[in-house]
This record gives sequence, structure tokens and C-alpha cells, in this order.
Amino acid sequence: MENFIKKEEIVSILNNPINKDPKFVRETLDYARSVQNNGLSLQQIACLLQNTDPEVEKEIVEIAREIKSRVYGNRVVLFAPLYVSNHCDNICDYCSFRHDNPSEIRKFLTNEEIKAEVAKITELGHKRLLMVYGEADYSMKTMMSNIEAAYSVRTGNGANIRRINMNIAPLDVADFKELKKANIGTFQCFQETYDWDTYHKVHLKGKKADYMYRLYAMHRSIEAGIDDVGMGVLLGLHDYKEDMMSLFVHAKQLEKDFNGVGPHTISFPRINPAVGAELSYNPPSPVSDDQLKRIVAITRMAVPYTGMIMSTRENANFRNWSLGAGVSQISAGSHTTVGGYCRKEDEEHTSQFSLNDDRSLDEVVYDLAKNGFIPSFCTGCYRRKRTGEVIMGQLKSEEGIKMTCMPNAISTFSEYLRDYASDKTKEVGKELVENMVKKAPEHLKPYLQDTINKISDGENDILI
Ligand code: SAM
Ligand code: SF4
Repeated sequence: MENFIKKEEIVSILNNPINKDPKFVRETLDYARSVQNNGLSLQQIACLLQNTDPEVEKEIVEIAREIKSRVYGNRVVLFAPLYVSNHCDNICDYCSFRHDNPSEIRKFLTNEEIKAEVAKITELGHKRLLMVYGEADYSMKTMMSNIEAAYSVRTGNGANIRRINMNIAPLDVADFKELKKANIGTFQCFQETYDWDTYHKVHLKGKKADYMYRLYAMHRSIEAGIDDVGMGVLLGLHDYKEDMMSLFVHAKQLEKDFNGVGPHTISFPRINPAVGAELSYNPPSPVSDDQLKRIVAITRMAVPYTGMIMSTRENANFRNWSLGAGVSQISAGSHTTVGGYCRKEDEEHTSQFSLNDDRSLDEVVYDLAKNGFIPSFCTGCYRRKRTGEVIMGQLKSEEGIKMTCMPNAISTFSEYLRDYASDKTKEVGKELVENMVKKAPEHLKPYLQDTINKISDGENDILI
């Protein structure tokens, strides 16, 4: 296995004097803005990361906003995390789940408890779940039965979770193949930091200390047939410019090895205080709000067709800003405690880290709709086999998005408004839907109106 993250090359691209050449800066911005932008080169990304000119900085955000609006429209996909187990054999210096944390009360949900949690989440109106586990010695059989339990839950009106994504430790190919049989959507796993020395400094014990095994996790997942993969770095561990450049090297390596299939999503976890994990209170390379904003905007320009996720680690204002500049998915109404949706009282003892956005799902939905974003509960791509190469191809055609993602967002949001929304959310939501139908291409209007009528008559899950 080759380590394709070559630190010296990355540092030299970042320090290349061409990054300061006004002509190169101009060409980079113009290319990024153009419809031909199919992804920036490493040198172009480095040029944007190294910029110090406030005028260029403004233009970076402006371009990110244009791309977001052109590629994704006003849709924002919503999901809820479900923490299944905080048992963990690893010692990651920044995480409360670390094996040597005596203040963490360990809990592995039983299938009955999983069903109770999923029922609560479903009753809020969620359709997408991200199941999260610490890394301990549990069998694939257990994990598969957990997933089956979560998919089996039905609440009022037959509501259920329609897509489960997994944030878990890397598996080998055989286990990924098993996981695929359980019908999961995305395999998500963050490298945390790509810097070899920092990685080993903060991953002190357990399987996770094996950098190369983690680096090739996405390769094994795609090889096993799970071709929607989610990547990220844990911001605060190492110089963010180097780590983001490395993440793009990783993404390009996947594209090279798998016929153009890069990451389905990129997440932006920033270290939050975590009880029992000293480092989290004083991260070695803290990332400021302004720096995280640049990271978001530059990522939107660097990989225009990759989904971007912002979790409740960030506060409501920051998340609202990030939606305009590139983020396409957010979690909402989240608990990062094991069993937290059913029982809130021992939050601090089983949680992974503290959260900064405690709005309910309904409040998030209201804020989105009020700001002109349509909350989408769509799970159509995965269920219609639009993954990997297929979804990338579709995203690159504006017509493709108008024909599928936008109608599916309207359909799933209408279901949400009918079954779960508060009166004030219903009011802004209905107005938004009406406006979207008015602005839709003529040939789509009859389909949209028909879908809305069917949903108000009680039909569910109308998807293209
Ligand atoms: N145990 C698996 C792993 O480490 O890949 C998956 C679950 S882990 C709970 C999910 C992610 O949480 C980690 O990859 C890490 O990036 C993030 N995380 C850990 N501690 C954090 C903290 N203090 N603040 C913010 N995010 C944190
Ligand atoms: Fe365990 Fe993951 Fe937390 Fe590390 S980040 S201690 S592997 S749960």
C-alpha cells in the first residue's frame, strides 16, 4: 500500500510563488466561476487557500454562493445522527469515547432501545439516519441486526427511516460487503488528520493508530460496492491548509482509482469540548470561524458536485451562513448521547462532545423555509440506485437536478408539513412550496401539483 499523501509535495504546492501571481489568481477565480468548473487542480486550490487579499476573499465567497445555487438550488437535505454505542477500544486524544475515560458511562443500545430511539426520531419527521459507533469488538452480525432493527420501525402514518448512513470505524472488504447487504447508503469516516506525525501523536492506542488502514478505508468500501463515501478532517488537529489539501489529494486518488467516483460528501467537524479529553479544550491548531468559512467556500469551488455536511457542532448562525456558501446537508434536532432521544438526563456522561445548535427539527425547518431554503427529506438517489458514477453524472447536468432532486424535495417537504410541522412552520412552508411551483419549468408544473395533491390526500413517499 502506497501512502499517496506526500507531505513535501503538498507543502511545496502551497508555497509555490505562483499562488501570489495576480494573473494566476484571476485565472483561478474565473475558471472556478465558469460552468466548465468540474473541480479545481491542487495548485488552484492552494492559490485560494493562500490568498490574503480581502477583495479576493469576498469574491471566493461570492463564487461559492453562485455554484451552490447553480448546482444544488435552494435544497438542504436533513438528517439525524443516532449514537448506538460509546464503547471504544481506541484512545483518541480529543474524544470522550476514548477507552481510558473513566467519566464516560458505557452503553451499547439493544435492538429494542434502537427501535425506541428511531421511533422518536421518526416522530420528529426525519427520514435519514446516520448511525454512529465507537470502535469496539462487536460482530458484524450485531451491527447488521441493529440496522435491520432501525429500518423496521414504523410510526404514525407508516412513517419510517428510508436511508441509513454509517459513521463507523474502517472495515475490511468482506465486512463492507456484508454491510452493503444491510442496505446502507453512505459509509462515512474521517481521516481526522492526514499529517503522519500529528496522526500518531493523537491516536495513542487501538486499531485507529494504524494510519494506512484508515487511509484506504474508502478504497475498500468502494471495492465492496458501497460507492457513496463521506470524508472529512477533524479541524483543529493540524494546519488546516495542509489537511484540506491532503483531503483533496485523497479525493483525487479515489477519482483516479475508481473511474471518476470521488467522495459523495465532505464534512467539516471542528473540535468541540469533550469531557475527559483534555486536547479538545485546547486544540493544537485551532480553526477560527473566519477560517472555517474560507474552508467551506473553497471546498464548494474545489469540488462543485460533492455534497457538503455541517453538523450541530456549529451554532445556528454559522450553519445558516454556510448553507449559502456551499453546505448541502445538515443534521437537526441531534443528540450525540447514546440513548439521548429517549432520555436526556445523563447527557454529559454518554455524549461524545458538546453541541452548539440545540434547535429542534421544527425550528431548523422553520428557519430554513423563512430564509428561502427548501428542507429536503429525500432519500431517492440511493433507493433509485443513483449512487457513485450515476449520481455524479446527474449532478453535473442542471436538467437532471430539476427533474429529480427539486421535485423530490417538494414531495418530501410536503409530507413533513402535513405530518409534523408546527402551525407557524406550516405557514412559511406552504408559501415556499407555492413559490417554488410557480417558478418551476412549465413542463414540471403538472407533476408537482399532482404530487402535492396526492400528498395532501394522504399518499406517502412519492419519488422520482
Ligand atoms: N469511532 C468511529 C471513528 O472514530 O471513526 C466513528 C465514530 S466517531 C464517534 C465520529 C467522529 O467524531 C470522528 O471521526 C471525529 O472526527 C469526531 N469527533 C471526535 N471527537 C470530537 C470532538 N471532540 N469534537 C468534534 N468532533 C469529534
Ligand atoms: Fe473511539 Fe471514534 Fe472517539 Fe476515537 S473518535 S475514541 S475511535 S469513538
